[in-house]
Amino acid sequence: MQDVLIIGGGMAGASAAFFLAPGRQVTVLEAEAHCGMHTTGRSAALFIEGYGNAAIRAFTRASRQFFLEPPSGFCDVPLLTPRGAMLIGTAAQRPGLEALFAERGTESATAMEWLDPDACRSVIPILRPEYEASAFLDRSAMDIDVDALHQGFLRGARRQGARIATNARVEAIERVADGL
Ligand SMILES: Cc1cc2nc3c(=O)[nH]c(=O)nc-3n(C[C@H](O)[C@H](O)[C@H](O)COP(=O)(O)OP(=O)(O)OC[C@H]3O[C@@H](n4cnc5c(N)ncnc54)[C@H](O)[C@@H]3O)c2cc1C
Repeated sequence: MQDVLIIGGGMAGASAAFFLAPGRQVTVLEAEAHCGMHTTGRSAALFIEGYGNAAIRAFTRASRQFFLEPPSGFCDVPLLTPRGAMLIGTAAQRPGLEALFAERGTESATAMEWLDPDACRSVIPILRPEYEASAFLDRSAMDIDVDALHQGFLRGARRQGARIATNARVEAIERVADGL
């Protein structure tokens, strides 16, 4: 008897299994031969607290501490390493970029800096001139070691008793009167 069946062993399923495993019977059903073969394996691997809508940004801020200080034994490499990210725009896009800069600057501990054209060129010398019109740099953006994070969740879930079943595509789900 299972308490929780998780469909998909990408980052979402693996992390859900990790956090739900204590005190529960958890099984992850992954269609492929290995977990992480789809979106998780294609991530650009950036951690940017100012990226996405307000809900996404709140989730990103909330996950920062876990990434910086994962539980003991979770992985043996840093999950985040400094990278920095630069947002660029043409003159026509400047108002939108300024609004984004103002909005993001108020809510996060990011180190954001508005750049003049000379500063833009010093960061990215090959930038086309029309994109030097407006730009800002978020020095706090970091690379995520996606593989270490994903494997840490899978390993940690297994260690806590979860079962990860691969080659296990869910074909149908049926609701029955007395539960699943
Ligand atoms: C190009 C690109 C760049 C990105 N860059 C970033 C970035 O820089 N930073 C960032 O934070 N995020 C980034 N993301 C987003 C991030 O990669 C995704 O949000 C995350 O990987 C989604 O994980 P997931 O588990 O929901 O999906 P997936 O990794 O796709 O996992 C879903 C799993 O479900 C399995 N599955 C599907 N159907 C079934 C079924 N019927 N039965 C059993 N298993 C099934 C699939 O095989 C798959 O393994 C990027 C995404 C893309 C595509």
